[in-house]
Parts: sequence; structure tokens; C-alpha cells
Amino acid sequence: MIILKTEEEIEMMRRANLLVGSTLAEVARHIRPGVTTRQLDTVAEEFIRDHGATPTFKGFPNPMGPEFPASICTSVNECVVHGVPDDKPLKEGDIVSVDCGTLLDGFCGDSCYTFAVGEVSPEIAKLLRVTKESLYKAIEQALPGRRIGDIGWAVQTHCESNGYGVVREFVGHGIGHDMHEDPQVPNYGRRGNGPQLRNGLCIAIEPMITQHSPAIWLMEDKWSIHTKDKGWAAHFEHTIAIHRGKADILSSFEEIEKVIEQQH
Ligand code: MG
Ligand code: MG
Repeated sequence: MIILKTEEEIEMMRRANLLVGSTLAEVARHIRPGVTTRQLDTVAEEFIRDHGATPTFKGFPNPMGPEFPASICTSVNECVVHGVPDDKPLKEGDIVSVDCGTLLDGFCGDSCYTFAVGEVSPEIAKLLRVTKESLYKAIEQALPGRRIGDIGWAVQTHCESNGYGVVREFVGHGIGHDMHEDPQVPNYGRRGNGPQLRNGLCIAIEPMITQHSPAIWLMEDKWSIHTKDKGWAAHFEHTIAIHRGKADILSSFEEIEKVIEQQH
């Protein structure tokens, strides 16, 4: 069942999502060679709780294993999504996607950014650029009257034309009081297919893009998803509302990208 949101609810969603953006910016200030993803997780959890919110990922149930132990997913290099923070230091040239969810005053925020640790190779820089571009191309399609398939088509066309793989097993989603609501928002699809987009619909769009083959597998921790061929992967996510006839991006990369600019 798709739950459309009122103007007031969309503003509540914006607050939860802007907090995710600020949390990711706070995490960005700590990303450098030598830092561990567990340290980044501590930074994120403290920041979220200091702002009166709850990290939605912490304790997230898993039918196949332990609940998620951390407040962010930190997916390094060939890890596509759901990486569990640990004590392994990040190295120069790594990439780490940091996915973060908040619950603030009853509404969810969800956004993800893939960071370069120091300088990455030109090939990896391109993977990050194209994946982020595909997110914005998808958002351009998110207009009333368009369909979910138009969003997936935009991601798929852009990424596959650059030779990358589009992960099929994990998708974007509706979002509101719950982090995962209907409809599913795949990163592949055909134009004009799927549920119609309407004002009041809030969705998380999140391309998960691999360097080569999109084949993935679940690791022994029962959370981390890696590429089978060990190619690297990027993941960018915005939560948006279809609102007053246009796509209104509720999360934000602005603060994150200011931090990145200052580091260079
Ligand atoms: Mg997310
Ligand atoms: Mg999501």
C-alpha cells in the first residue's frame, strides 16, 4: 500500500533527512587513511542522538542472522551495501559508502554517500561520478504522472552505457513513518512501466552500481553484500518527495560536499 504524505508530513520528513545529511557531513570530517569504520559509526551515532533522533539501522532485524549492530552501513571497495563497521583502518585510495538512517519525531530519513579516502584512481573517481550522476538523472524523472520504471530506466541507461553493472537484488523504496514502505524503486526498468508517481509520494532513490558485473553475494556475517568478481561498487541515495508538481530532494549532499571541498 502506497501512503501519500501531507505538506506537514513532508516538512517532518525533510527534518529527518537533513539530519542524515548533517550526520554524513560529520562523518566526512573524520574520513581519512587510518580511521576505522567503527570510529565513524561512533561519530554518527553520537551525532544522531545529540540531535534528538534515533539511528534506524541499529538493531535492524535480519531473518538470516544477527540484527544490525551499528548506526551506519560502511561498505568499503568491493562491498556494495550493508557493510558492518569494524576495526580495519581505511587506506589511501579506498572508497567507503556510508548509508545512514534516522528516525526523528516519528519520520524517517535515509541517505547514502560514497566517499573517496584520500586520492582514488581515475577509474574509481569515474565510478563515483557516474553513479551520482545517475541518481540525479533518476530524480529528474520523478514527476507526477511519470512511473517508477522511468526512474529505474534513467539509472540503468546512464550506468550501463558507461560499462557498469546495476545491482538487481536491492532497490530503493517508499519511506515515511517506516524506513521501507511501498513502492519498491528498482535501479533498472522500462519507461512507462510500474506504479504512477503522484504528489505526496516520498521515495528513497539509491543506485547501487558495480565496476563490472552486477553479480553479488552475501558474506559470512550475514549482512555485507560483495561483488562476486571483486570489482568495486558505489552507492548514492537521496530521499525525495514528489511535491507541488516536482521532485523535492529532502536529504542533502550540500554540507557533505563542503567538507570534501575543504579537505582538498
Ligand atoms: Mg539508505
Ligand atoms: Mg534506502
